[in-house]
Parts: sequence; structure tokens; C-alpha cells
Amino acid sequence: MSSMKVVLPDNSELELPAGATGLDAARAIGPKLVEQAVLVKIGDESRDLRLPLRDGEHIKFLTTRDTADPDALYVLRHSSAHLLAEAVRRLYPGVKVAIGPPIENGFYYDFDFPEPITEADLERIEEEVKRELAEGREWSREEISADDAIARFEAEDEPYKVELVGTAQGDISLYRQGEFTDLCRGPHLQNAKPIKAFKLTGLAGAYWRGDEHNKQLTRIYGTAFYSQADLDEYLERLEQARARDHRRLGVQLDLFHLEEISPGSPFWHPKGMVIWNELEAMRRRENAVRGYVEVKTPLIYDKVLWERSGHWEKFRENMFLIPEDDHTFAIKPMNCPGHMVLFANQLRSYRELPLRYAEAAPLHRNERAGTLHGTTRVRHVTQDDAHIFCTREQIEDEIFACLDYAKYIYDLFDLESSFELSTRPENRLGTDEEWDFTEAALVAALERRGLDYTVNEGDGAFYGPKIDLHMRDSLGRAWQMGTVQLDSQQPGRLNCRYVGADNAEHVPYVIHRALMGSFERFIGILTEHYAGAFPFWIAPVQIRVLPVGEGHRDAADELAAKLAPYRVEVDASDDTVGKRIRNAEVEKIPFVLVYGDKESEDALAIREHGGLKDTLSLQEFRAKLATLVPWQAGAEPSLTS
Ligand SMILES: [Zn+2]
Ligand SMILES: [Zn+2]
Repeated sequence: MSSMKVVLPDNSELELPAGATGLDAARAIGPKLVEQAVLVKIGDESRDLRLPLRDGEHIKFLTTRDTADPDALYVLRHSSAHLLAEAVRRLYPGVKVAIGPPIENGFYYDFDFPEPITEADLERIEEEVKRELAEGREWSREEISADDAIARFEAEDEPYKVELVGTAQGDISLYRQGEFTDLCRGPHLQNAKPIKAFKLTGLAGAYWRGDEHNKQLTRIYGTAFYSQADLDEYLERLEQARARDHRRLGVQLDLFHLEEISPGSPFWHPKGMVIWNELEAMRRRENAVRGYVEVKTPLIYDKVLWERSGHWEKFRENMFLIPEDDHTFAIKPMNCPGHMVLFANQLRSYRELPLRYAEAAPLHRNERAGTLHGTTRVRHVTQDDAHIFCTREQIEDEIFACLDYAKYIYDLFDLESSFELSTRPENRLGTDEEWDFTEAALVAALERRGLDYTVNEGDGAFYGPKIDLHMRDSLGRAWQMGTVQLDSQQPGRLNCRYVGADNAEHVPYVIHRALMGSFERFIGILTEHYAGAFPFWIAPVQIRVLPVGEGHRDAADELAAKLAPYRVEVDASDDTVGKRIRNAEVEKIPFVLVYGDKESEDALAIREHGGLKDTLSLQEFRAKLATLVPWQAGAEPSLTS
């Protein structure tokens, strides 16, 4: 065959000589595309422009104008990693290069330096890369045999590359630019012109091949973009995320702190507990409205229970054990087995179902020290947990009610929620008919509540399908929060039974669900979402009154008393009014009332956090505050039926 055809995105066909590459196709279309193309996509595959196309393929070019396309960024950053390696080799003779893949938001390259380097060296390396960029670089691709590749990297004294060739699958390809040749599958840019912004962002230790028995290498992180503006925006977002870091704000706002004496177990300060208790009050109130009953079950159980529940087999590594003389006890990592023991305490009737047990008990999970993170990844965790015991026919309505409850909570905090359904895994218990039924019930509930959802095929638990609840915060970052999970196995293992309308005994289904996820994690996320400026109803201090002079002190105290039961403080310190206003701003207090000669209960000078000013009477102000507390505002029912 001397010619072939490929199909362009507008469905037109392009005739090319057989064996033509992506670049040849670009050339046939026009000189501008040749200049701008960075990658050719065939379906999901990103292919290097230098590689041949095949007859009948549907192709699409990514260009330097696709500045936000993940694949276009990937090839840009991968190429940038090669520039970094070239620079490091020139600046540090004797350095060995390991691997350098692109990652989310950037790339890294691992090196074995003869002498350790520090953050201060990054500037010098970055300058060297910029010099390369100014000089210009072109990439060329070469395919060789594994033996030739080994000989080549041995000659260059690159032992890590030699090892990589030894384990590489399929053909060996090399990419060369300037003075550097890398073992690499590609794809790469044609040349370095599209790299308009390059920045090194950090330094870390990393074991060769991620194995702690291997040598520790130095990992240099960086990022690159198609424009300086995109890099600036990215750095700005990083800075915002840093400023919002809940570990930092938690200390600054006096919410909590952590100690080595109990890793992963926050010490909650009085102000942190105000937020916690407001969430707890919301949980109790909504549980009551939505037909839950509150229970309390033990924290510590004989391991016999964990063996029966299956946790001993599957979760033991994460459990804290308490050895006794001839027994072993374990601190509960989950509430479910306790709730099932409680349910199984008597033979139930179908008339009692659905039975919804709620308990926000402290749980302990022995998470590895390296994975702990502020309050968002902890060992002492308090879920807003519940277990709903129900019949097969009740599943859909109960799932619907859980989703409705979750949506209510996320909307309270302006969190953009999304839902993900996980379906039957390879390894599962129960028949296909059973899974057909339970999956359909979850889908029906999602659709009835009008929720958009994605499907994660095969990611359900072995005992049932689940819906994971995700949200996006104000910086657009995604967090996994709660989960709603159907279980047809554990209740039977723990002897839960009810007598049905048919007078026969049945095993109930159980829905495990936590909606905020955990108090610890939820508060951490809210702190970052609001950058510490919490909504009025959960703010630790809601109002601060500032008497202008000593003579206004009594009136300020009186005003504070009249604002009960809101959380009001009077700041009568010696600082100037301006300084006291600034302090309240730093503490992110929602309302500041300056009280001097001009103020009275008919005219309060009100400053909202963020700068808005207003003059209101006490009565007007109280009316405004009432609208800021969700369950006082109009007292709309929270349920959707
Ligand atoms: Zn590469
Ligand atoms: Zn559970």
C-alpha cells in the first residue's frame, strides 16, 4: 500500500503516503499547524508527532493553544523534566540521573548527587534551564536495541538508566536534546519553544524505585506552562492554598493543636469546640427531623466480635489492641459491629423497620504516621455515623433520604457536591440478581433526588454497592467526604434478624452512612474552604463590641448582654479602636460593633468581616442575625420528599 487515509476531527479524510507520521499529517494541513502541534491524539492515546500513523486512524492535534489541556501540559512538562536533567548534569559533574515523569501540576526528576544540594541551589539550576530555553532545544527520537542502550548508558556512567533498560518492556527509545540523551518512551515536544514558563518548586528525598531499602535520591520538583500568565495564576493558587492551610489557621485562630504525645489526635481548644458543637447540634437536630434515634455503644470489645464481623481479618492492622490476661480487646475503629450487637439484642419485627441508629462516637484507627495530616487525616476520628436497618423494599427510600440529608448539609456550606456510584467488584458475595436489584435501587434514589452522578464500575465493597460523596471547596479542590454504603453481609454474620409480615425470620439490610464524613476532617475542610472566616452560625466568636472609651464600657457590656444567646465578646483593652478593629479582622470575627458617644441601641455602628459597614437599631440587627442561622431563617423544612 503506497498511501493511506486518516480521519480528522471534522470527519474529513486526509490522504497521506503510507508510513506518514503525525508531523507529516500536520504538514499536509498547513505550516501553522506544523509550528504549533505538540501531540497527536488517537482516541485516548497520546502519540509522539514523530511516530507513524496507521490507515483509518481518527486523529486530533493538540497545539500550543491547548494551554489547559491535561495531555498538552503533560508533554510540555515531560519535556521540561528532560531540560532539568540536562541542566543538572552540566552543573554537577558526577551526578547520576534516575527518572523524571510528569505529575499533576508539574513534574519531577530524581538525581543521585555526589554532594547533597539545598533549596538554594534551585535558583542556579533554574537559571541554567532558562539559558537552555533561550538557546533553544530540539528533541530527536531514536529507537535502538536494549543491548545498544545498555552499552550507551554504561559508557555515560548512568547506572540507574542501565537498570531501567534491563527492566524495560518492548522497544527501547531514546530522546535527545542538547547535550542530554534520555531513555524514554515519549511523547515529547518537537522543540522547547512552547515552554514559555518554567519554575522549580521544591526538593525532597525519594528512594530509588520507591523502595526504602534502596538508596535515597534527591527529587527536584518543577512545573511548566504554555504562558507566564498561567504560571502566575498557578503560583497564586498555591499561595492561597498555603494561606488557607487548616494546620496553620487552626493554630492562628486557636481552634486546635497537635502533639507528638498522641499523634493524629487533635487537642481541640474552646474555640474549636464551638464549631464542633454547632455541627453536633445540627447533626442532632437533623437526625431528629429525619427519624434517627441516638444510641451509645462501647468503645472497647473482645476480639471475638471483630472476628465475627470480619474486621479482624480485613482491618486488624489499623486497630489498636488492648491485651488482657487471657483475652485481647480492641478499640473500635468503626461503629457498625456495636450497632449490630445492639440490634441483635432482640428479635425484631418488620414493624420496627427502618430502624436508624445514629452515634458520633470517637473511633481510633492506627493510620501510619507518614499519612497523618492536620485534622483531615487523623487517628482519633469522630464520624457523623449511622446504620439504617431496613427491608429490601425500603432500600431505595432510605438511600434517597441519606442523599437528601447529605445535599442539605453541603448546601448549608456552599460546597459544590458530586456523587459517585461504585458498582459490583470482581470479588463479591451475593448473586448477580441480588446486585442487579441493589444497584438499581441506588440509581433510582440518585435519579429521584435529581443528582448528577458518575459511575465507578467495579469499585463497590464486596458486600454491596456504595455512593461516595465528594465536594469542591472555594479553591476548586476536590475532597471525598461521606459515603452511603449498602451491606447485605455483616448483619447476617452478627445475627441480626427480624420477623417479616410472612411470619418468617429475615436478615435486614444495613445502610452504613456518614455524611460530613468525620467532624475532624469536616472542620479542617471548612477552615480551608472559608479561609477561617466561618459563617456566622458556627463562628467561635460571632460579635465583638468595642467601647471607644472607659465611659462607654458599661453600655458596651449591656449591649453584649442584650445580644444573647449569640457569642459576644467585649474588647475593652487599652489598644486604640483602630488596633482593636484590626485584631477582630485578623481573628475573622463576623461582626464588630464600635460603641462611642454617637452610638445607641437605636443606632449601632456595625462592621462586617470583609469591610461592609452599616448602621442599624438593635432590633434590626437581631433580625439580620436571625437570617444568618439556617434553621431560624423562615424555618423551612429541611427534608425533600
Ligand atoms: Zn521523556
Ligand atoms: Zn458502618
